[in-house]
Amino acid sequence: MPAEPLTDLSKLCVHTITTKPWSIEEATDRYAAAGVKGVTVWRQWLDGRDIARVGERLRAAGLAVVSLCRGGFFPAVDAAGRRAAVDDNLKAIDEAEALGAPLIVLVCGAVPGLPLAEARGQIADGIAAVLDRAEQAKVRLAIEPLHPMYADSRSAVNTLAQANDLCDAMDSPWVGAAVDVYHVWWDSELEAQIERCGRAGRIFAFHVCDWRTPTVDMLNDRGLMGEGSIDVRRIRGWVEQHGFDGFNEVEIFSNRLWTMDQGEFLESIKRAYLEYT
Ligand code: ZN
Repeated sequence: MPAEPLTDLSKLCVHTITTKPWSIEEATDRYAAAGVKGVTVWRQWLDGRDIARVGERLRAAGLAVVSLCRGGFFPAVDAAGRRAAVDDNLKAIDEAEALGAPLIVLVCGAVPGLPLAEARGQIADGIAAVLDRAEQAKVRLAIEPLHPMYADSRSAVNTLAQANDLCDAMDSPWVGAAVDVYHVWWDSELEAQIERCGRAGRIFAFHVCDWRTPTVDMLNDRGLMGEGSIDVRRIRGWVEQHGFDGFNEVEIFSNRLWTMDQGEFLESIKRAYLEYT
């Protein structure tokens, strides 16, 4: 059964990358004025900023800091590259702690030509290497499976089943999964794997957008909910049925939508959120 339609914006979170033309300061003011209740901050938005102050400003505006995007990219061709990746993830945990973000989304990484099985082993090693620090900072880590079209260069974790397996291997309350409809909507095992993830208390985040036909850019042509093939409301029903009660995070990378007036775009996000999410 699909979920009941959403009747208000109380669980609406927007990723800063969704309104890419806006700085963190502008996004803070505009989201708050529009009635958005949560924000996921992409790390680039913190460049050159006092991170703790950004967090204070977001909260003062009435926005919950839902998560920091993103950590991961653990695999590398040599030990130095893998060490650098671990260091960058430790830095991301520092940033999340300073910002007051309780969660980091992990885009786990892949390297063209590196066998996927090796990449997956390196991902497990990388997460294990930062887990103590994450626990100390009280920052949870959400493994986000990515659509298999990104298996060459962005993530060797491509299904929720693989993310669940990795969570089982980590066996930590600090490691769970992010369910992003764009990446997993096609999977015939999706409902069963959401149930498995929820049973373990590991549905840490839920990201929404839509899959357009034709998709003209593999990275930057995501659609607004209702513009494509994904039954977002049905998938929301599954995550909620299996224990998720957090924010619905609108995460859209779109060259097309970034050229719009971003204030109008944010209004269309609110309409699509209520109508199709
Ligand atoms: Zn996502």
